[in-house]
Amino acid sequence: MANNTPGFRYFVSPTRHQCRAHRQGDWVVHTCPECDYQLWDNLRTGETKIFNSKADINHSGSYFPPAYQQALENRN
Ligand SMILES: [Zn+2]
Repeated sequence: MANNTPGFRYFVSPTRHQCRAHRQGDWVVHTCPECDYQLWDNLRTGETKIFNSKADINHSGSYFPPAYQQALENRN
Protein backbone atom coordinates (compact mmCIF):
# COMPACT_ATOMS: atom_id res chain seq x y z
CA MET A 1 0.00 0.00 0.00
CA ALA A 2 3.02 2.32 0.05
CA ASN A 3 2.06 3.30 -3.41
CA ASN A 4 1.85 7.07 -3.18
CA THR A 5 5.41 7.74 -4.32
CA PRO A 6 5.08 9.68 -7.54
CA GLY A 7 6.22 7.42 -10.34
CA PHE A 8 7.84 8.94 -13.35
CA ARG A 9 5.75 6.68 -15.53
CA TYR A 10 2.61 8.55 -14.59
CA PHE A 11 4.14 11.98 -14.25
CA VAL A 12 3.09 14.13 -17.16
CA SER A 13 4.90 17.41 -17.36
CA PRO A 14 2.36 20.24 -17.52
CA THR A 15 4.49 22.03 -20.06
CA ARG A 16 2.48 24.70 -21.78
CA HIS A 17 3.55 26.67 -24.81
CA GLN A 18 1.80 29.77 -26.01
CA CYS A 19 1.57 29.97 -29.79
CA ARG A 20 1.63 33.07 -31.92
CA ALA A 21 -0.73 33.46 -34.86
CA HIS A 22 -0.35 35.30 -38.12
CA ARG A 23 -2.17 35.36 -41.46
CA GLN A 24 -0.65 33.73 -44.50
CA GLY A 25 -3.03 33.83 -47.44
CA ASP A 26 -6.08 31.73 -46.57
CA TRP A 27 -4.29 30.28 -43.57
CA VAL A 28 -3.89 31.38 -40.01
CA VAL A 29 -0.59 29.95 -38.90
CA HIS A 30 -0.01 29.34 -35.22
CA THR A 31 3.67 28.92 -34.53
CA CYS A 32 5.32 28.06 -31.24
CA PRO A 33 8.27 30.27 -30.35
CA GLU A 34 9.61 27.59 -27.99
CA CYS A 35 9.66 24.56 -30.30
CA ASP A 36 8.87 23.67 -33.93
CA TYR A 37 5.14 23.06 -33.40
CA GLN A 38 2.82 24.62 -35.98
CA LEU A 39 -0.95 24.65 -36.38
CA TRP A 40 -2.46 25.83 -39.65
CA ASP A 41 -6.10 26.86 -39.87
CA ASN A 42 -7.61 27.43 -43.29
CA LEU A 43 -10.11 30.27 -43.25
CA ARG A 44 -11.75 29.15 -46.48
CA THR A 45 -12.15 25.41 -45.93
CA GLY A 46 -11.83 25.14 -42.15
CA GLU A 47 -9.06 22.60 -42.65
CA THR A 48 -6.59 22.21 -39.81
CA LYS A 49 -3.06 20.92 -40.10
CA ILE A 50 -0.74 20.26 -37.20
CA PHE A 51 2.99 19.84 -37.61
CA ASN A 52 5.53 18.56 -35.09
CA SER A 53 2.92 17.87 -32.43
CA LYS A 54 4.43 17.09 -29.03
CA ALA A 55 2.68 14.51 -26.89
CA ASP A 56 4.05 15.96 -23.65
CA ILE A 57 3.56 19.65 -24.41
CA ASN A 58 0.22 21.38 -24.19
CA HIS A 59 -0.05 23.97 -26.94
CA SER A 60 -2.63 26.69 -26.70
CA GLY A 61 -3.32 27.28 -30.37
CA SER A 62 -6.86 28.55 -30.01
CA TYR A 63 -5.77 32.13 -30.11
CA PHE A 64 -7.81 34.16 -32.55
CA PRO A 65 -6.44 37.60 -33.28
CA PRO A 66 -8.97 40.32 -34.12
CA ALA A 67 -7.95 40.24 -37.77
CA TYR A 68 -8.96 36.59 -37.94
CA GLN A 69 -12.34 37.30 -36.40
CA GLN A 70 -12.91 40.13 -38.83
CA ALA A 71 -11.95 37.95 -41.79
CA LEU A 72 -14.59 35.45 -40.76
CA GLU A 73 -17.26 38.10 -40.40
CA ASN A 74 -16.44 39.75 -43.71
CA ARG A 75 -16.68 36.50 -45.62
CA ASN A 76 -20.43 36.65 -46.19
ZN1 LIG B 1 5.95 24.46 -28.36
